[in-house]
Amino acid sequence: MVVDFDAIVSIDLIEEFINGRLGRPKYRKVVKSTKRLIEGSGKKAILVQDSHSINDPEIRVWGLHAMEGTPSSETVEELRGMGPVIKKHNYDAFFETGLDGMLKELGAKKIVFCGVVTDICIVHSVASAFFRGYEPILVEECTDTTSSAKKRRTLEYMKSNYGAKIISLADILGK
Ligand SMILES: [Zn+2]
Repeated sequence: MVVDFDAIVSIDLIEEFINGRLGRPKYRKVVKSTKRLIEGSGKKAILVQDSHSINDPEIRVWGLHAMEGTPSSETVEELRGMGPVIKKHNYDAFFETGLDGMLKELGAKKIVFCGVVTDICIVHSVASAFFRGYEPILVEECTDTTSSAKKRRTLEYMKSNYGAKIISLADILGK
């Protein structure tokens, strides 16, 4: 099975969540897999970067992180330059950003969502994509969160509630 899709949205593969305070070493694998996906599929990628100001609601929950204009909100080096950047200010990559417009311009409907973490920014963005009529796709190797149980549970949640397709990298790259 080779799964067809229109575009890749990479969420929060930024310094803060890979090399910073909120990062985990295992998330580096997500960066590697996402890079393979972008290069191997030849599809358009959009790089969404968490980018906060002090009054964003999330700051009350997580403390200062990925602050706008600091290196921690920048896409990690491996993926930098692989697509246009969208700055988001909340969990949802569509909330008050240009993501919807950019995807519409591309005529994209089937969207692969990559990044961290599965049970926060990914699930909120996938919900938002579903509300807007997109068909979300998740590649197992291209997302992760703090525990594998949480990841599994959230993938199942997105499948049953948003009709998300859950596939492997091999399902797309055919190897
Ligand atoms: Zn944030």
